[in-house]
Amino acid sequence: MDFFKKLIFVYIFGHDMKLSIVPVGYIKRELLESLGKYLESVGFHVTISDELPVPERAYSKELNQYLVNPFFDLMKNPKAHHLIITDVDLCSPPFLSIFGFNQGKNVIVSIFRLKGDLVKERTLKVAIHGLGHMLSILHCSDPQCVMSYSKNVTDIDYKHRGFCKKCQKLWPL
Ligand SMILES: [Zn+2]
Ligand SMILES: [Zn+2]
Repeated sequence: MDFFKKLIFVYIFGHDMKLSIVPVGYIKRELLESLGKYLESVGFHVTISDELPVPERAYSKELNQYLVNPFFDLMKNPKAHHLIITDVDLCSPPFLSIFGFNQGKNVIVSIFRLKGDLVKERTLKVAIHGLGHMLSILHCSDPQCVMSYSKNVTDIDYKHRGFCKKCQKLWPL
């Protein structure tokens, strides 16, 4: 990692580069572990927390989806970085049926619309994309880059888990 990138990373994540994966609702252990393994391989110190129940007040009857804010409210340590993985369908109006969302030090990913044989790979791509945003990387116009915006699962499957050359330069790891 070059010096300046490292500096940005340490500034945002702290020296320990800790990231806590927090399952909210039922997520297969295997999925959490493979996600953790990948994030460890790119430099994070990952811990996997115990499963939390889906916050009831997140449910919007009107939209039949779950609002993201109550999930972020569950994260008690404001200094820690969390990657929340949930199995329910998420929204953050005006954005409906979302794969993932960022809020400060937290990223949330829903596997609801990622299910199928490729669920692990898809979850990993959405998570890395969110962590990229957390590190101030914007959307990329290369459809194969993990930072490209995905409007559907086909777009997610088309892109790689890695960054294009341009985004790789921005990624501090
Ligand atoms: Zn994005
Ligand atoms: Zn890119």
